[in-house]
Amino acid sequence: MPFHIFNTLSRTVEEFTPQNPPEVTLYSCGPTVYLPQHLGNFRTFLCWDFLKRALKFDGYRVRQVMNITDVGHLTSDEDAGEDKIEKTARAEGKSPLEVANHYTELFLADWDRLNMERPERFSRATEHIAEMIALIEKIIAAGYAYVTKSGVYFDVEKYRGENRFGRLSRQSLDEQHAGNRLEHSPDKHNPHDFALWVLNQPNHILQWPTPWGPGYPGWHIECSAMAMKYLGETIDIHTGGMDHIPIHHENEIAQSESATHKPFVRYFVHSAFLVGKTGAKISKSAGKFPLLSDLPGAGIDPLAFRIFCFSAKYRSELVFSDDGLRAAQGNLDYFREFSRNVPPEAAAPGAETPGWAADYYERFHEALDNDLNTPQALAVALDLVAESYRRKDFGAWPTLIALDAVLGLELSRYRETALGATISADAQKLMDERAEARRSRNFQQADELRKQLETMGYEVKDNRDGGAEYRRRQV
Ligand SMILES: [Zn+2]
Repeated sequence: MPFHIFNTLSRTVEEFTPQNPPEVTLYSCGPTVYLPQHLGNFRTFLCWDFLKRALKFDGYRVRQVMNITDVGHLTSDEDAGEDKIEKTARAEGKSPLEVANHYTELFLADWDRLNMERPERFSRATEHIAEMIALIEKIIAAGYAYVTKSGVYFDVEKYRGENRFGRLSRQSLDEQHAGNRLEHSPDKHNPHDFALWVLNQPNHILQWPTPWGPGYPGWHIECSAMAMKYLGETIDIHTGGMDHIPIHHENEIAQSESATHKPFVRYFVHSAFLVGKTGAKISKSAGKFPLLSDLPGAGIDPLAFRIFCFSAKYRSELVFSDDGLRAAQGNLDYFREFSRNVPPEAAAPGAETPGWAADYYERFHEALDNDLNTPQALAVALDLVAESYRRKDFGAWPTLIALDAVLGLELSRYRETALGATISADAQKLMDERAEARRSRNFQQADELRKQLETMGYEVKDNRDGGAEYRRRQV
């Protein structure tokens, strides 16, 4: 079965066909680095790590770009409020660059702890100002934007006149903006018009010169400019949280397509939220989820949070709860215990995989191809381990390692480290005997003991000084 995914553009699960197989271009809306990213943010980013790994499991080569927004994202997604980065900068008495650098570092450290594959490129908004200005000039030249004293605005009426706005959200402009106070600048032709570039804001710290005067970019134009620079005018998959469907992604489509007259995105994929549950010990407080760094204190490994997110479908809400996290930790422990229990001969390179394991590989693969059904894929991986115990057959180890390319639990490395750390009493006895044999220059016996230790899965390295190093053979 080919890969299938729910495309928000069509509201249906579609067969996925990239423009230039096996290459897939993937753009993922990234963080605004003014605060630490909480676990709700990371749930979204994890969904795209699962997506990317599932595509690679299918044999695709994925080129992913994720933006890091370090200017222009206002406290409201609309053109209102203060620049989020500058607000933190003022509060902390730092420069916007210092704020952005600090929270970018925290973000990347957590990213790595969750064992997410880094995108081929993280792109910072402030490093792509020239591309944004060039794109805005194209939009103006195409007749879809106008310049005023307060900014360069996208002309929504003109675009809507061609009946294209609202294609993604299936909402009218009023519905998209419902509940939000629209800043009705007298300069705007229409309250729904949005800023591509903001002018005449002398209090804004970051300013760049443009043909229209100094100012700073709007949040939406950043994604369009960076996506097109690195991935071309039409990208295969664009991801984001469901909250991005109205406004942010509608605006991205409108401004991109009015400049290029080509479809901007072929598959829009959106993830549902992590939601709070009252009474949970690690709870959502003040509208924010805990941070990844809060989990170890509660006995939860960052990779257990990975499993926790894997256990729900990307477009289903996931309830954040102690029970759910503990169950995920239990599953991580189960996989790890199995990894330690696999005997060296089953883990040796070229060890034969039993026929029954192939079925699990197929079922895992099918689950992923079926609209990234990670809960089903997780169930298959857990069943594979249970079946191994039932059959007392550890030959499925290479299959589990193949599935781990998507699960991302680093089980092979875990096994090596765990076993390397403990040397059994039997092996220790042989090592001691071998040291004695070498001291008394009984090389034949030393050689025999070496062979015994190698059979037990140890690598033996003799040093020039007469000592020796023993470590568990790499799987
Ligand atoms: Zn974006």
